[in-house]
Amino acid sequence: MNKPAPYAANPDQSLGRIFAEQASFTRNAFQRDRDRIIHSTAFRRLEYKTQVFVNHEGDLFRTRLTHSIEVAQMARGIARTLSLHEDLTEAIALAHDLGHTPFGHAGQDALNECMREFGGFEHNLQSLRVVEQLEQRYAEFDGLNLSFEVREGILKHCSIKNAKQLGDVGKRFLEKTSPSLEAQLTNYADEIAYNNHDVDDGLRSGLITIEQLSKVELFANNLAEVKSKHPKLENKRLIHETVRRMINTLVVDLCTQSAHNIASHQPQSIADIRRLPQLIGFSSEIATQNLKLKQFLRKNLYQHYKVNRMSAKAARIVRELFAAFYEDTGLMPNEFQIYAEADKARAVADYIAGMTDRYAIREHRKLFTVEEHL
Ligand code: MG
Repeated sequence: MNKPAPYAANPDQSLGRIFAEQASFTRNAFQRDRDRIIHSTAFRRLEYKTQVFVNHEGDLFRTRLTHSIEVAQMARGIARTLSLHEDLTEAIALAHDLGHTPFGHAGQDALNECMREFGGFEHNLQSLRVVEQLEQRYAEFDGLNLSFEVREGILKHCSIKNAKQLGDVGKRFLEKTSPSLEAQLTNYADEIAYNNHDVDDGLRSGLITIEQLSKVELFANNLAEVKSKHPKLENKRLIHETVRRMINTLVVDLCTQSAHNIASHQPQSIADIRRLPQLIGFSSEIATQNLKLKQFLRKNLYQHYKVNRMSAKAARIVRELFAAFYEDTGLMPNEFQIYAEADKARAVADYIAGMTDRYAIREHRKLFTVEEHL
């Protein structure tokens, strides 16, 4: 790791953990946080949660686990290039999706709808709940007791109403200040990772085609480059070579533009970073190309009728599970029944949110199919 810049986050000057703990003998605070995340139950469940394609549709598609690892890999590379703290970006990246429901956005939207009268459901806020409360493994505290900087990075966005209830990590949304550069760049690494792996998975699934994508500038430019260098390449390699060049285009632009932004604002400390506008970003040219790619994916992949059919099924499963558990909390495991006495709707939402795709499908079958054994 390069020596971090003076405005990088510094584990020795962390704003600390909610419960004070002795420093680790072998690891800095952010490495320790990363390790706690990797050992959590929620992290292991990411293997069986998905974003676009439901888990059982194929072994080659990304899951939230492989997505999170890709984000961590990109975030570390960007952090190293900009002399920021790599360990912090890695911890944020590995934790950023811990609060996702089964079945990706379809699951989250359905759960949010079910929770409308009870404060709603938002995956980003749920990731924070997982690391602050829901993981119950340590003797002295609930959650993972992570450093402020990791929790700040996990909470990417938040409503003013929620921000008021969140204490230290909510403050920046009320005061309109910026998070660390490490948090900012991990957010971009997330976006670069999912846009590109969705192109890759989308092409592999056959739901989108190279011909369609050839109208998207970012893809077309990189495709043309690969074709001119390797005119006889078979499709599988052609796609991978194009996608890796797209990722490179985005990452290089992000690093170049962000370095320029940092140089023009001359921050001296992380306190300066918090006061300044967000300094991590694409050039306007690449930001436009990236937006066009996102719009393409939304229209042609995320709203593809085959994806819609899966999403509708997923939403139905979530809604029916919610209704059944809310109606009779005795159908949930004991610990959730006890918790439901204090807050029924939130207990049901937490139980459902923690499920993997396949667990939710099985749970639904067990509850609604007479033939199925308990
Ligand atoms: Mg993500």
